[in-house]
Amino acid sequence: MLEKRSAGENAAAYCTKCRLSCDHIIVAMAADGETIAKVKCRTCGSAHKYRTSADLTTGTASKKKESAAKTAEVLWESCLAEARGKERAYDMSGKYRIGDVVLHNTFGKGVVRKTYYNKCDVLFKDKERLMASAN
Ligand SMILES: [Zn+2]
Repeated sequence: MLEKRSAGENAAAYCTKCRLSCDHIIVAMAADGETIAKVKCRTCGSAHKYRTSADLTTGTASKKKESAAKTAEVLWESCLAEARGKERAYDMSGKYRIGDVVLHNTFGKGVVRKTYYNKCDVLFKDKERLMASAN
């Protein structure tokens, strides 16, 4: 059941400043008269858009997932553009240095981002993978 609310009343909302759900005062209602548009935090006094902590988690989670895939691709492109190493086929017995470009049968082109003992981090178009090497 939806409660009718109006400006000046109390509402529990997520405060962007306090970073927690706390008591707010409704400052403005949306045009439909049922949705809270703007609230003022009773704790810190900041006025902001009405949002609940549930809105916050679902909203950012899906956004984060989307942008993570995009970020990997953008990063991959810029790393490829900056890579100074030689381009060669990936071989787990090869020795790699940061900035080398490797061609993998399955994952395609990748850039060596970090090297460890017998392993290296290679950034492929979709994500970074830990690959075996002879370092
Ligand atoms: Zn607050």
